[in-house]
Formats: sequence, structure tokens, C-alpha cells
Amino acid sequence: MKFDLHTHHFRCGHADGDIESYIQAGIKEGLQVIGISDHSPYFGSELDQPQPGIAMAKSDFTNYVDEVLRLKAKYEGKIDVLLGMESDFYPEYIELYRSMYEMYPFDYIIGSVHQTRGVSIFNRNRWKKLSESTKIDEKRHYYELIGHSARTGVFQVLGHIDAMKGYYPAFSDIVADDAIDSALELIAGSSVAIEINTSGKTKDVGGWYPSDSILERALHYGVQVTFGSDAHIPSRVGDEWELVRARLREIGFEQWVYYKQKKPIAVPL
Ligand SMILES: [Zn+2]
Ligand SMILES: [Zn+2]
Repeated sequence: MKFDLHTHHFRCGHADGDIESYIQAGIKEGLQVIGISDHSPYFGSELDQPQPGIAMAKSDFTNYVDEVLRLKAKYEGKIDVLLGMESDFYPEYIELYRSMYEMYPFDYIIGSVHQTRGVSIFNRNRWKKLSESTKIDEKRHYYELIGHSARTGVFQVLGHIDAMKGYYPAFSDIVADDAIDSALELIAGSSVAIEINTSGKTKDVGGWYPSDSILERALHYGVQVTFGSDAHIPSRVGDEWELVRARLREIGFEQWVYYKQKKPIAVPL
């Protein structure tokens, strides 16, 4: 049983192809389940599309849902198409986001922290000229937000939980293990899964999110895991799925999950 819950397409402004091209790539890859999960609109903004190269317009949200549901019906029996979304996590707007997602039959929402203190986690300049202790504070703050996101009840999956290393590989060397452990405990207690996201190779850091050491601790706390390629081109759908599966088994995981109608479905590894 092969699945991929994390895919994008042209609507966000920085991915290639339409939804159907990702579904067809999934069929070619031998997936039984593909989740469509483009970036959420900025629901908290007064503008319809404040950042056209980053996220879809608010006015396109309904079109997005309708198109996924139409394709779900079209491909029934060939591949299970799930309605998902990769949602930004802004604590101050969480109730607004919750109400937007409750309007439609989402199978799952991926909660991703893409900004902390108003700055993108992928902005490499944010680390310049920071003292060691400030770097530790920034990392702790990131994991506090992740832990908080787990407890909102809005998300079934948490996206790329160490993606701050994407353009700043030294992030992994900043010691904040207790903050990571606290987040993992909150995640385990909230029955949300973390994804193994294979898109690190598209950034400076290479490899996957999260690191093996975080995965080992996640297993210790009983955190559920899932898979997401985070494909922004159709050819990356299902990318390195077999390698991730083998690694998870080596670490000691026995199952992973995907979500349908917000319910976890366990798949043996
Ligand atoms: Zn993206
Ligand atoms: Zn993301």
C-alpha cells in the first residue's frame, strides 16, 4: 500500500502542473492513495492573494476543493484521491482557519510552521549576526509553535518538523533537545502524525525532514508517522518512498498512517 499525502500544483504560484498531472504521476509510481495538499490561502489577510508566488488566492479556495473532488470521482477505482491542504500555522488566526476547513469534506490538513516571528523559516539571512543564545531561543520558539500546532485539533499531520534547517543546515547543531522532546510529547498526546518529507534535496540541506535522530525520539514517544514527498513537480510524487520505508523499519517503526475523512488508517511498514 503506497501513498503520498503531500503534493502541490500551479495554484500556489511556485509549483508546476495541474492537479491531474500529479494524480497521473501517482498512478505511474504505483500509488494506491494520493493526497492533494496545496498551500493554504492567507485567510488572515485582507488581500485576496498577498503573495502570488507562495500561496493560492482566497477566491481560488472553493475552485481548489471542487477540482479535487471532481478528480476524486473521476479516478475512483484507479487511485484514491484525498482532499488535503498544507496549511500555514498562525496561532492568532487558528479559529479562522478552522472555520474555513470545516466548510468542506477535507480528508486531512497538514499543519506547517512556515514563519516564526513574522520571518520565513527558509530565510537564511535570519540567522546572520545572532548570538548562540538567541539561536537557541529561535529554535526553541519554533518547536513551541510546532507543539502548539499539534494541540489545536485543526491538523492531522504536521509538515516537515525540522525544515528550518532547509537553507541553514547548522540549525541541526543548535542544542534544544528538550524543546524538541516537549513538542514530540505534545504531538504523541494529540494523535497527529509527523510526515517524513523527502523534499530536503530541493534545498541546501539535502536529505529528509525530520532527521533520523528526531525520528528515533519520535518513536520513543509513540508519535505516528506518515509520508509526504512535498512534490512541486509531478515527477517527484512518491519520491524515495521505498527508502523512507526501509529507514523507518530500521529505526524500529512498524506502521505508518494516512488519513481519510480525518481518521488515521494504519499501514504496516
Ligand atoms: Zn511550496
Ligand atoms: Zn511546507
